[in-house]
Parts: sequence; structure tokens; C-alpha cells
Amino acid sequence: MDIKKQLNDVRNQALKELDDIKENTDIERWRVRYMGKKSQLAEIMRGLSDVPIEMRKTIGATSNAMKAELETALIAKEQEIKNLELAKSAEDAIDVTLPGRIQHQGHIHPVTQAIEEICGIFEGLGFQIVEGNEVEWDHYNFDALNIPKEHPARDTMDTFWMKGGSKPETDWKMLLRTHTSPMQARTMESTPLPIRIVVPGRVYRYEATDATHLAMFTQIEGLAVDEGITFADLKGTLNEFVKRFYGPDRKVRFRTDFFPFVEPGAEIAVSCAICGGEGCRVCGNSGWIEISGCGMVHPSVLEMAGIDSTKYSGFAFGLGIERIPMLRYGIEDVRNYYSGDLRFLRQF
Ligand SMILES: [Zn+2]
Repeated sequence: MDIKKQLNDVRNQALKELDDIKENTDIERWRVRYMGKKSQLAEIMRGLSDVPIEMRKTIGATSNAMKAELETALIAKEQEIKNLELAKSAEDAIDVTLPGRIQHQGHIHPVTQAIEEICGIFEGLGFQIVEGNEVEWDHYNFDALNIPKEHPARDTMDTFWMKGGSKPETDWKMLLRTHTSPMQARTMESTPLPIRIVVPGRVYRYEATDATHLAMFTQIEGLAVDEGITFADLKGTLNEFVKRFYGPDRKVRFRTDFFPFVEPGAEIAVSCAICGGEGCRVCGNSGWIEISGCGMVHPSVLEMAGIDSTKYSGFAFGLGIERIPMLRYGIEDVRNYYSGDLRFLRQF
């Protein structure tokens, strides 16, 4: 048989088998079969003793070239399998050099932060925190607060009325409360005196939203009722609140104002922190920033709740909450609070 053809057959067979190999253990078996001492190649070479010397030379050269070719193919195959194994292990492995993913921690909304801070101060002054219903009867929202039907003050609070909500045997109608004041009437009706409460909560007005107005916003109501409460108690309480919340250097100004459920009524302003009272854009050049309406509880409101107004008196106040962080942080658009934009909220 032609030795050259034999060699060529071995070579083709070897390369074909090598090509099919996928694992290291098979490589070892292949090496023994085609390149070891008992390989076909080695056997052919051993049989060369019978061949004439000239022919032996050319066959030797061919077999050496073949050996080199198989070795090169083997090295390439080994590398290929190594790469396969690396890729496989990388699928399950953790790359410790990759930067971590930032886990954002939730935090308290700036309006809630303000509520908690303000309620904390009033708790320290002996007030109890109560919460009321956001869906309310017009009786508590208006009538019991000395705002009867046809009273012009009703027009100043554009109201969301609930469809079909009415109370049997009354002419009460259901609405979304326009202020937290209904809890004044409800608490006076149901709680033994003395009363000292603050009422944080959401309120609703049927009006267009803009940079300073929302259809839903937050108030904190305050109420104190007892024997012998005077306007001096109101001033003292709110003065103390301002010093604790805004800082000891801020001045407080009371000016008369009208609210149907208080008499006398007042508006409270705090000296502007930005200009120190000189006048600037934030305070509208007045040097003062209004924070609250307040006053002595109207005798009619006490009487409607069944409290003897000749024996007892009280004061009430209401704070708008959204304004407070706006002034503190210079927030220019109140709609930012409820836009759900995390880039805004993560600042606080
Ligand atoms: Zn100012």
C-alpha cells in the first residue's frame, strides 16, 4: 500500500476527529491515538525500515510536516476549549469590578416633614393631634362655623360637592372639606372641655391650579377652648410657635382680619428671613410674610357646639403648609410638590 496515501488518510482522519472534539478529556484521548508512541503514525514510521533510503527521506519529511500540522491544530483546539470554558463560567460569576447599582432610599415628603415638625412643636405646647374626614358635611364645613347658606364667605371657597350625598332628615350635603376647620366644630361637639387640638390634613378647592394655587393642599388647624382664654393666650401661643419653628430672631405681627368663625380675627405675619424686614421679592417688598389666619372663636360657633359662650372662650388658627417649605427652600412653584418628579423630591 502506498505509504504516502496511508499517511494522508491518517492526517485527514485525525483532523476530522479533532474538529469534533468539545472537551479536554477527548483531547487527551486524541493525542494518544494520533501522536503517542503507539499511534498509527508511529507504526507507519516503524515500518519504514523495509523502504529504500531515498524514499525513506521524502516520507520522513512528509511525516514531520504532518506532525507539525497536527500539533498546531491541537494547540488551536486547546485554546478554543479553554475559551469556551471561560465563557461558560463567566455566565454564573459575579464581576466584583463592576460599579454597584445605587439603591435610592425613600424619605419623607417635604410637606409631611413640615407637618411633623409643626405638630411636634404644638405637642410640646400641650396640644393633641386629631385628624378629621376629608369628605365632610356642609353643616360642619360651613354652618357650624358661622357660615350659613347664602353667606358670601361660601363663595370665597369654591367647593367640590359630592354627587347625591345627603343626610336623611336634614338638608346636609356632602363635600370635600375646603378647610380643616370642620374639626373645630366636631371636636367641640364631642369632646369634654378643656380642648387643645391641632388638626393636620388635606383640603380641597374647586379652582384652577397655578404656581401658587392647588386644588388640593394642606392645612393645620389649631383650637383651644377653656374658661378664661383671651387673645393674649393666642398671641403667646403663636409667638412661641414662630420662635421655635422659624427661629428666635423672627418678629411676629398681628393685624386685624375677617373670618366668619372668629371674632376678633387676625392675620399673622413673620418678619422676612431673606431681607430681615427690609423688603425683597419673596415678601413682596413688605418685609413680612403672612403665615396664618387666627382669632377668638366666635360665640355663635361655641353655642352651636353646645358650649356656654358666657363661661367659655377659645382661640383658633389655621396654617397653610405648602407655603412653609416654599419659603424655607425658595421653591417657586407649588405644583412641584405633587408632580411626582423625583428629581425635585430627592432634594429634601
Ligand atoms: Zn423679604
